[in-house]
Amino acid sequence: MKIVLLGPPGSGKGTQTQFITNEYNIKKISVGDILRKSKKNKFFNKIKTTMNQGKLISDQLIIKIIKKIIENESFNQGFLLDGFPRTITQAIALKKMQTNINYVLELLISNETIINRLNGRLVHLPSGRIYHKKYKPPKIKYKDDITGEELIFRQDDQKKTIKNRLIEYNKFITPIVFFYQQEAKLNNLEYYKINANDTIININKKIKRILG
Ligand code: AMP
Repeated sequence: MKIVLLGPPGSGKGTQTQFITNEYNIKKISVGDILRKSKKNKFFNKIKTTMNQGKLISDQLIIKIIKKIIENESFNQGFLLDGFPRTITQAIALKKMQTNINYVLELLISNETIINRLNGRLVHLPSGRIYHKKYKPPKIKYKDDITGEELIFRQDDQKKTIKNRLIEYNKFITPIVFFYQQEAKLNNLEYYKINANDTIININKKIKRILG
């Protein structure tokens, strides 16, 4: 099973990624997680600045990272791409890697729900596990359920930055959707739009109905 999960920031990509990868025993590839965990040197400081502004990192770098991961044999069995592709250049590059994606799921959500979800989101950096102060609280305040380690608020989850991230998403998503809808018409993959304004559990159920 090779899945691409599309959706604006706050649409629940990270949360649904956790569900799908556990349920179907496939690996997660999240560029955002990789970048957040990266070593703190001068090069990555530049990347962090771009992330904190809510802007996208260059296609060239992101494609290089993904290519390296996907070429690793342990990813042959299946994976879920969370937050990639984010531009049409990335989508085309992914196809060229001969990954044979079989599902593209697009999470659709209103701006109001996005603001509510991102405001109060917490993350466990080493694993990328996501919580929310109100909607998905950890068992112990500010601690990861599994390791007990510290949870943090993401710097780019501030209102001002969320706005930029939404602008970036909307700027690039249309050609990506068109590209995958064409791929679906050619029977190269299955493409589904999912209403993500629903509760986490209901979205889990919708995804299960699709993936079987
Ligand atoms: P995410 O964790 O998916 O919300 O990503 C956080 C940030 O990482 C984004 O706002 C971008 O700055 C960067 N990023 C993640 N994935 C990509 C990508 N596919 N292309 C470019 N930048 C990315």
